[in-house]
Amino acid sequence: MPAIIPLKQGSLHINWQKELAQAFTSPEQLLAHLAIDPAPWQAGFAARRLFVMRVPRPFADKMVKGDANDPLLRQVLPLSDEFNEVAGFVKDPLDEHDSALPGLLHKYRSRVLLVVRGGCAINCRYCFRRHFPYAENSPDQAGWQAALAYIAAHPEINEVILSGGDPLMAKDEHLARLFNDLAAIPHLKRLRIHTRLPVVIPARLTDELRELLSHNRLQAVLVLHINHANELDDDLSLRLNSWRQADITLLNQSVLLAGVNDNAQTLCDLSERLFSAGILPYYLHQLDKVTGAAHFAVDDNKAKALMAELLAELPGFLVPKLVREIGGEANKTPIDLGLEPDFS
Ligand code: SF4
Repeated sequence: MPAIIPLKQGSLHINWQKELAQAFTSPEQLLAHLAIDPAPWQAGFAARRLFVMRVPRPFADKMVKGDANDPLLRQVLPLSDEFNEVAGFVKDPLDEHDSALPGLLHKYRSRVLLVVRGGCAINCRYCFRRHFPYAENSPDQAGWQAALAYIAAHPEINEVILSGGDPLMAKDEHLARLFNDLAAIPHLKRLRIHTRLPVVIPARLTDELRELLSHNRLQAVLVLHINHANELDDDLSLRLNSWRQADITLLNQSVLLAGVNDNAQTLCDLSERLFSAGILPYYLHQLDKVTGAAHFAVDDNKAKALMAELLAELPGFLVPKLVREIGGEANKTPIDLGLEPDFS
């Protein structure tokens, strides 16, 4: 029986797995829910064949009814643009097939990335892993033991990044075992979780999960993925508040997306809303050039101009770093803004 969290007056702790099971998988149903005429969008519905559509209802409820250009809707609605073959856009833009073991990527000297679960609660149309072969990279029980043994045998590793898909798709019982096994490796210091699940189903932030992390020896960092201020409503902010109070560091990374957040006011509003909820803006990613997502790309000159506006408008600690990932490179590459540093 899940615990009851006193959030909005009268609201009970909702079972996140039930919300997951009730996600929209059909564009027709989602558009009907939003009172949007499907006719102009019909041709794009076939793009579900390229990448399944999945939109949890709590995320759909943050969209503006009747607005076909809603920035949250644009992130999830299959469009005919996804069939465009564009030079430079490839199936595996980060060249991630070269893993140390199934489900374990050792790209950085001191950090490893562990694929905990293949799937996500939401399928973002711009996702760089939309073609990733999760079936070959989701370890079974023996695979877990091999991954833990690898980490234990590499004393230079001090941080484990749980990734996916979305690692919070795993049940709390499963995560509890994993957290304990990782805490038993003495050279590890930090446990980082990259997730979008609480943004699309806030009920995933269970008390149990928070307690597991706050009682673990490893310092916990939750890196959320929020692209627009409308994704961060009062319900999510309230839930995150208790995580912050449990000494869990909250960071955010966004992707710069045409038609979603590619203007300075939208990005300023996002940083302000994040900080109000106790989350620090961390990275703003240039789009990874994955096949089917070229219509989301923002060119570097525009990205740099936006960053200049953010630097003029916001205190430095609210300006995320503009970065891109380059396939085969160990680290994210900061994009040179060509500006004099200002440490305000
Ligand atoms: S949550 Fe992240 S990994 Fe999952 S579909 Fe969206 S961008 Fe991709």
